[in-house]
Amino acid sequence: MPDHNSANSYCLGIESTADDFGAAIVSFEGKVLSNANDTYMPKEGGIHPREAARHHAEVAEKVLAEALDKAEIKPRDISIVAFSQGPGLGPCLRTGATAARALASYLDVPLVGVNHCVGHIEIGKLATGARDPVTLYVSGGNTIVSAFEAGRYRIFGETLDIAMGNCLDVFARAVGLRQRRGAPFGAVVEELARKGKKFVSLPYTVKGMDLSFSGLLTAAVQAFRSKKGSLEDVCFSLQEVAFSMLTEVTERALAHTEKPEVLLTGGVAANKKLQSMLEVIADEHGARFCVVPLRLAADNGAMIAWTGILAYKSGMSVPVEKSFVNVKWRLEDVYAPWVEGQ
Ligand code: AMP
Ligand code: MG
Repeated sequence: MPDHNSANSYCLGIESTADDFGAAIVSFEGKVLSNANDTYMPKEGGIHPREAARHHAEVAEKVLAEALDKAEIKPRDISIVAFSQGPGLGPCLRTGATAARALASYLDVPLVGVNHCVGHIEIGKLATGARDPVTLYVSGGNTIVSAFEAGRYRIFGETLDIAMGNCLDVFARAVGLRQRRGAPFGAVVEELARKGKKFVSLPYTVKGMDLSFSGLLTAAVQAFRSKKGSLEDVCFSLQEVAFSMLTEVTERALAHTEKPEVLLTGGVAANKKLQSMLEVIADEHGARFCVVPLRLAADNGAMIAWTGILAYKSGMSVPVEKSFVNVKWRLEDVYAPWVEGQ
């Protein structure tokens, strides 16, 4: 039995929902000892689920070994194994789950299935000290405004179509941008946007508390092709409109819940412009603005390991034979008994 509060109890966390295969070691008191990762880079176009899964299977051994090496622990020191159980791309999730099941069985330790979205929220809370935030979780596959109410992470608003990060990535590819030195497309758009001077009008779509980015994406690509502005101007305008939409919904959730913090998490949290816009509304409502550090912003194993530890300490684990992945596992369906005691 692992000691619940010991610095010598460790969780191995495996993340594999989309393009990243991550493995990390986190101690039961919340110290991230290692956070190894390898990202699948498609030769062209977006993520091909089976190709990404093949990538994950190929790099798994190397990434797992790196996680153990950096943490300076041996496989036998692992107390529990946590994995991303969903939501995500089926073939990718199944590859990570297979590795997790094999390791948990071989080491004879408990297996914990983690909801990927909860992982992003919990790692943001751990890294920033936020206790009860309104969270804006923006990534390649998800866009959710959430806060904890009555035992669950409730969804106050979300995208009705594509995710914020996906919108930026597809836009970047459509206008012919290239990723330099492995920088994500969102970061490339951000850099260009800083040089934009003219605002090009683009559709702003907030429906109730939900958001839509697909029309905005099409309009931004068209604005570039029909030369309504320079590429820099269109990047600037796309960010202005999309981030204003996100800020509006987050502010309304904050006004309604009166939470003490605003937490920005997920890969798009790296964006300085989005950070500055959310900081303004947090200040106006007397809430502390918290942003996940860059190294923990995109998909990573540490967020899965830490959430696995929280769940395990609340008595949760899953038998290997019942550890099916759940590609559509919604945030608000997650039983999260640990949150109230945090
Ligand atoms: P994730 O899905 O959490 O792994 O995050 C990946 C997403 O974050 C991709 O859509 C990236 O383009 C996006 N991203 C990364 N850095 C930035 C940035 N500086 N600005 C906007 N988006 C970003
Ligand atoms: Mg990713």
